[in-house]
Amino acid sequence: MPRPLTPSHEGYRLLAVHAHPDDESSKGAATTARYVADGARVCVVSCTGGERGDVLNERLKNDIHILRDIAQVRRDEMAAAAAALGCEHVWLGFMDSGLPEGDPLPPLPEGCFALEPIEVTTEALVRVIREFRPHVMTTYDELGGYPHPDHIMTHTVSMSAFLAAGDPTAYPHAGEPWQPLKLYYNQNHSGGRIQAFHEAMVAAGIESPYAEWVAAIDKRPKRTITTRVPCADYFEVRDRALLAHATQVDPDGWWFRMPRELERDVWPTEDFEAALSFVPIARGEDDLFAGLESPAAADAMARRTDLDPETAAYDGRVTHPAPSREAS
Ligand SMILES: [Zn+2]
Repeated sequence: MPRPLTPSHEGYRLLAVHAHPDDESSKGAATTARYVADGARVCVVSCTGGERGDVLNERLKNDIHILRDIAQVRRDEMAAAAAALGCEHVWLGFMDSGLPEGDPLPPLPEGCFALEPIEVTTEALVRVIREFRPHVMTTYDELGGYPHPDHIMTHTVSMSAFLAAGDPTAYPHAGEPWQPLKLYYNQNHSGGRIQAFHEAMVAAGIESPYAEWVAAIDKRPKRTITTRVPCADYFEVRDRALLAHATQVDPDGWWFRMPRELERDVWPTEDFEAALSFVPIARGEDDLFAGLESPAAADAMARRTDLDPETAAYDGRVTHPAPSREAS
């Protein structure tokens, strides 16, 4: 077990909101493992059950048990991943929307997460926030980080729940008000990191799976990375969590082609973009809890009902024009 980094994070709580089981292991997983080792509580929320995920692991493609009950298989995989990361886990209970493909795109399936009324999904997440009482939340940016309807909806619901959780007039039956103090977007698959991986692999004489991505790097949205969390000691834990999602992850796939020793040297952090914070975001921040004086002080601040997001200490929210379906 790697040595915990100092200072201790005992008493702090982090809520990581994700769309599907496996997203928590590919986005911010080493950060989760690091904070757990440092004494914080980390809770992952999966908005959907991942019921519409395809089996991506060649070796399991025709497994009859998996084909018969993919939903149960994904629940078991998620339990194994959470055990590897040492985190807590909550299902929000909504149905995977699937990734629509084709031209024109087919309609989303009835009853799926992306079509649920926003008040319903927001209330479900507000309930989790008021019960777990996180000081810090993470989610995806307004583009979803990846154009899957569930990822974009995860962003929308997280923003709406972050803003409602501390408001005593909002969802009064969903628990006592609790205002999380900082909200971040996962940004650990940035263009800069992909380029650095590609160059390091080429220099080491290893075939890089990133050439096509690097060629299209200018088309990637430019993001403002505010926070880099050192977590290289936990890349091994992250990989174990990811492999626990056996149906979703090909152990021979490109993800695992980057030698882990090289990865430590090239990019030893997971990166985040601050979206809203009630405490200032310092330049070069390396801790999602930075700026919070102590767990007791953070608890007291989160219980206040007069914190106004419109006058927050930091507002990094971006509004983009809605992506046009024809243009893509
Ligand atoms: Zn996903």
